[in-house]
This record gives sequence, structure tokens and C-alpha cells, in this order.
Amino acid sequence: MKQDFTRNKYRQLLVILQTGGYSFITFADYCKGEKEGRFVILRHDVDLRPDFSLATAKIEHELGIRSVYYFRAVPESWDETIIKEIASMGHEVGYHYESLTTCSGNVEAAYDDFKKHLKELRCLTAVETICMHGSPRSPYDSKDIWKSYDYKSLNILGEPYLSTDFSKMLYLTDTGRRWDGYKASVRDKIEGFQEEWNEKGWSFHSTDDIIEALQENRLPDCLMITTHPQRWSDFDVSWLKELILQNIKNVVKRVIVTFK
Ligand SMILES: [Zn+2]
Repeated sequence: MKQDFTRNKYRQLLVILQTGGYSFITFADYCKGEKEGRFVILRHDVDLRPDFSLATAKIEHELGIRSVYYFRAVPESWDETIIKEIASMGHEVGYHYESLTTCSGNVEAAYDDFKKHLKELRCLTAVETICMHGSPRSPYDSKDIWKSYDYKSLNILGEPYLSTDFSKMLYLTDTGRRWDGYKASVRDKIEGFQEEWNEKGWSFHSTDDIIEALQENRLPDCLMITTHPQRWSDFDVSWLKELILQNIKNVVKRVIVTFK
């Protein structure tokens, strides 16, 4: 079996992006109007294992790259020492909220929950953007809070799913430990654009597929690449464990999609 989703492979991807002339901007930079030229927004959803995110953050830092890390307000993600360390490297830190799920669909309670955790995160570092955690098993979509409230009133500049112009940017995500997992994903996908991207040949399975496309200069100028760093490890027991776990999860997700 060929190894993918290892930290070495991740480093290779970053280097090939740099070689291709892409600059790396944070999502906050993008929201502030940095939208010119060839760039990539590297987004990381820290669903669990913040130590894996720290490892990714260090690789990027060594390469002079800044990205954004979204932390959940749950013990398996929220590690205050790691949050501060990642921020100190110049990376952006944001809030990976799931308030509508944790508050069982009650919008007012969810908004209060959101504000409470945002304030706590802001005690650790500056927070300018937020990003919804998909919670595939939840019937609630936490982005729906923003149908009733305005995050801008909390000095939040943007939410990737709501503030990105995907007509000008290709979105790639490692959901399901592959780059074409949007088929099985309940929420981590961009409605209305995926079909067009597929027609343009911008659907990839392995990281090597993306690397090859970059080498052949087949990718557009503006990219958002989302990774879940807990899926990227060195080849060891945890790598195998994650692979097996992800295969089980993919089956569960397919069942959920089928019955939706
Ligand atoms: Zn998430």
C-alpha cells in the first residue's frame, strides 16, 4: 500500500506549492482584502489531537508559511498551551464552532454558547475568523446561527463557508482521508461549484494527484486547502489506526447520505 497522508507527503505538497509561485495567506488576510495574484489559504480543522496540529504548524513555520487553525471548544481539541504556541509562530487561530449541535438546535442558547467560547479563545490569542465544525452525525448545521445573528457584530471578519468567493477559488479538503471525499461528506463541501470543478479536471484522489497537477500547472491561481492534521502522521501505529477508523467512518457517512 502506498503511503499518503503522512507529514512527509504534506511537506512535499507545501514545497511544490511554493515552487509553483503560490503565496500563503491566512483566512483573516483574505477577509481583509488580500485577493490578488496566486495564493493559497491553508485551513486546518483541529477536530482532535492538537499535538498533530502542532507538528503540522512547525513544518509550515520551518518553510516560512502561515496558515489558519480552527480549534473546537471540547477537551479533545482545546489545548491552551498548543493554541498559544501555534499562534506564536504567526499562524492564525480561529474558533471551530459546533454550538447549534451542542445546544440541540436552540439558536439563542447556541449563540450564547458561541459567544462564551469565543471570549475564552480570545483570552488566549486574537480571533478574527470562525469556521463551522461539520458534525456529520448531527441533524443541525451550526452555520444556521447566522440566519438569526450577525457574527460581524462580534468583530469576526469571516466564515470560510460564508465569506469565500468560490467562483474564484478552488476548494480542496482531505475529508475522509482522500481529496475526493466530498461525495461522502454531509457538510464539508461547496454546493454549486463541485460539478464545475470536476468538469475542469480539478477532482483529485491522492495527494500525489494534486502534486502532479501542480507540477503540470493545471491548478487555478486561488486555492483553499483544508486539512485535518490528525489524519496526517508519520507511518506508525496511529497512522494505521486512523486509516482503519476512517474507513469505518466513511461507511457510516455513506449510510447517512443515502438515508438523508
Ligand atoms: Zn471539524
